Amino acid sequence: MLLQSDTQLNQNSYYEASVQRDPVGPALQGDIQADVLVVGAGYTGLSAAIELAQRGYRVVVLEAQRICGSASGRNGGQAIAGFACGQEPFETQLGKDQARLAWEMSLESVRIIDERIAQFDIACDRVNGYLYVADSERKARALEADMAALEKHYGLASQFARGAQVQDYIQSPRYCASAYESISGHLHPLKYGLGLARAARSLGVQIFEDCAVTRLERGAQLLAHTAQGKVRASFGILAGNCMLAEYGAALAPEISARIMPVGTYMISTAPLDAALCRKLIPSDAAVCDNNFVLDYFRFSADHRMLFGGRVSYSTRTPTNLQAVMEKRLGQVFPALRGVPTEYVWGGFVDISMNRAPDFGRVGRNLYYLQGFSGHGVALTGLAGRLVAQAVCGQSERFDVFAKLQHHRFPGGPLLRTPSLVLGMAYHRLMDAF
Ligand SMILES: Cc1cc2nc3c(=O)[nH]c(=O)nc-3n(C[C@H](O)[C@H](O)[C@H](O)COP(=O)(O)OP(=O)(O)OC[C@H]3O[C@@H](n4cnc5c(N)ncnc54)[C@H](O)[C@@H]3O)c2cc1C
Repeated sequence: MLLQSDTQLNQNSYYEASVQRDPVGPALQGDIQADVLVVGAGYTGLSAAIELAQRGYRVVVLEAQRICGSASGRNGGQAIAGFACGQEPFETQLGKDQARLAWEMSLESVRIIDERIAQFDIACDRVNGYLYVADSERKARALEADMAALEKHYGLASQFARGAQVQDYIQSPRYCASAYESISGHLHPLKYGLGLARAARSLGVQIFEDCAVTRLERGAQLLAHTAQGKVRASFGILAGNCMLAEYGAALAPEISARIMPVGTYMISTAPLDAALCRKLIPSDAAVCDNNFVLDYFRFSADHRMLFGGRVSYSTRTPTNLQAVMEKRLGQVFPALRGVPTEYVWGGFVDISMNRAPDFGRVGRNLYYLQGFSGHGVALTGLAGRLVAQAVCGQSERFDVFAKLQHHRFPGGPLLRTPSLVLGMAYHRLMDAF
């Protein structure tokens, strides 16, 4: 895989420019002991650490770069109820009752965000409201059917609009249908992530940055090797997402082909007139279309348009990225044509083959959490809670996800990307209709 550009992709991020990070703390040195070792200080690792520390465990988190320096600090900030795969894999593989449980847990994942914001006083510009939009008749019918099914079977209330009514929700010529729901919403992802790290530390969690785990010895006691020190622990949690295999020997080769890193990109405009923002999206909702290769966007608290989309299945940054994104934004909001772009950045989303989250255990004491497939802002909080429960011996809720069958991406590390690129060319074509 060609992920060397991951850090470069974050160099011109609006989120990094709008926070003040603490300096990197003292390095891990020597040999330390913990109850639980967590690899990765994104939302998943931090959420697991918080939940475990609240249950009395001694937790050490090892992070290869900065806290939330990867997907968790760069994303669209859209905290979404439900799963990227919809309810279908749960219903067909596990049956109605477990599918309902999974849905309820997805709602819990949004509540966890608000609980943490309140409990740990995290200022992260949280807003409620979510608008799905469709840009063709075919996709409008699909959106209407999906939202009707969610209301009928899972009780999710939404307001569906067609034709001219859509303009009440979004002032754009692009969309012929929309559905608004008020459970999902958005936040500033890096402020939220840094708030989680402060919360974890306040509970006694030790977090070491610039501290890649280069080798992991398995056994009754796990032993993580880093450049200058080692951590021994009874349990381990792999929360390294797309980057897990990038820092030395693959820590868990048996899980790496179950997810695929897909590049996705964002731009931020300069701050806009607040009245214009209110006119374009009166509810201030986060917006997402229902294309396979989707556009997702929202306004920031300081009235910038944060517009995400375009993907790279080859992990190479697309050429003319900024121009392509600006053109796309102008098609959605003609009123924003010519508004200067101030930031452009990107990152890798961890997609699983069926787009369902991939949680499980390798050996007796090593857990993994990955495959959030673009729904990780909320679901990672749940993942951390479920893995903490599993470590404590209560794994019924963790097992709802662990029981789901996942397929490996075909072709091994070298052929996985080309075969996916071919598959995606088909879906891009379908998005046009
Ligand atoms: C541009 C973009 C937009 C997105 N938009 C949305 C959105 O709007 N809504 C949504 O729900 N989701 C979105 N996502 C996805 C979401 O950000 C992720 O699902 C979520 O952040 C995953 O969190 P994580 O903690 O599992 O992984 P990460 O945030 O990637 O954290 C993993 C961490 O593990 C560290 N690590 C890896 N290997 C090692 C090692 N060997 N040793 C030590 N540390 C290691 C990495 O450095 C990294 O910091 C988006 C993603 C991107 C990139």
